[in-house]
Amino acid sequence: MIRIVEVGPRDGLQNEKSILSTDDKFEFIRLLSETGLKTIETTSFVKAPAIPQMADAHDLYTRVRDHLGKTEVSYPCLVPNMHGLNDALALGVREIALFSATSDTFAKKNVNATVAETFDRMRPVALEAKKNGLRVRAYVSTAYGCPYEGTIALSKLAKVIEDFMAMDVYEISIGDTTGIATPKQVEESLKVLVPQFGVSKLAMHFHDTRGMALTNILKCIEAGITTFDASAGGLGGCPYAKGATGNVATEDVWYLCHSLGLKTGVDLDKLVAASSFILKKVGKKTASKFLRAYLNTGVV
Ligand code: MG
Repeated sequence: MIRIVEVGPRDGLQNEKSILSTDDKFEFIRLLSETGLKTIETTSFVKAPAIPQMADAHDLYTRVRDHLGKTEVSYPCLVPNMHGLNDALALGVREIALFSATSDTFAKKNVNATVAETFDRMRPVALEAKKNGLRVRAYVSTAYGCPYEGTIALSKLAKVIEDFMAMDVYEISIGDTTGIATPKQVEESLKVLVPQFGVSKLAMHFHDTRGMALTNILKCIEAGITTFDASAGGLGGCPYAKGATGNVATEDVWYLCHSLGLKTGVDLDKLVAASSFILKKVGKKTASKFLRAYLNTGVV
C-alpha cells in the first residue's frame, strides 16, 4: 500500500499565480476528500501579505472543519511559527506541518533565518502542538540541491532529519524543491537514510521540473518508502524556474503504483474530477502526461 499525501491545495496553489476564491478552494478540497486520499494539506498559517494565496487560511479551514471534519481525512496546515500555531489551535486544526531546509541561503530567503534558527523557532512550536494533541509532520526543503548553494551534501540532509526526529514529528517529508534530484542520487541517499531513520518515518516530495519525479519515486519504492507527496493534476509551479512544472502529479504517482500492482486507495475518476475542476479554475492544462492521455482516451 502506498500512501499519497495530497499537497495541491497548499503547496500546489501557493505556486499558482491566479488567486482563487475560498469557495473554489473549498470545492477542490471537498472533491479531493471523496477520492480516498487520507491526507490533504489544506492551507498555511503564514502572514497574509507574504503569500496572498493563503490569506484566507482562517475562512478556508473553518469551512473544511465544519463541513468535512467528520471524514476519515486529515487536513494538515503549514505553520511557520508560534503565531501560526496559535491561529491553528484556535481553529481546531488537528495536524500541522513544520518546515526547514538544508541550505542556509534558501532558508534565509524563504523565512529570513538560518537553518539552525528555524529549529530554534520550531522546537517550542512542536512542543506546544504535541501538548495540545496535534500530529506534527515536517518538511525538509532543498534536500538534494539548492538554487543558491548547488548540490547539498547528504550529511547536511541527514542532520536536518535528525533534528526533526528529535522533535518527535511523526513523519519527515524529504523535499526536492527544485526538481533537481537524480535517480542515482536518490538511490544513494536512501542507502544511508533508510537504515538510519527507518522507512516508516520518511516521506518523499518530488517535483517534476526535469522529468525525473517518477523515476525517483520508483527508486524510493524499491528502497521500501511508502509515502509520497503529490499534487492533483501537477498543480503548482517552480518559483525558481519560470514556466517549469511543479509537484509531481497525484495521477502520475497513482499510475506508477497501479502499474506496479501497488494499491493507493485512491479512486482515479474522482481524483481526475478534482484535478479537472481546479485546473480549469487556475486556467492551466495539466503537466501530467498520464492525465492528458487519460483525459483524451479514457484508457488507463
Ligand atoms: Mg512542493
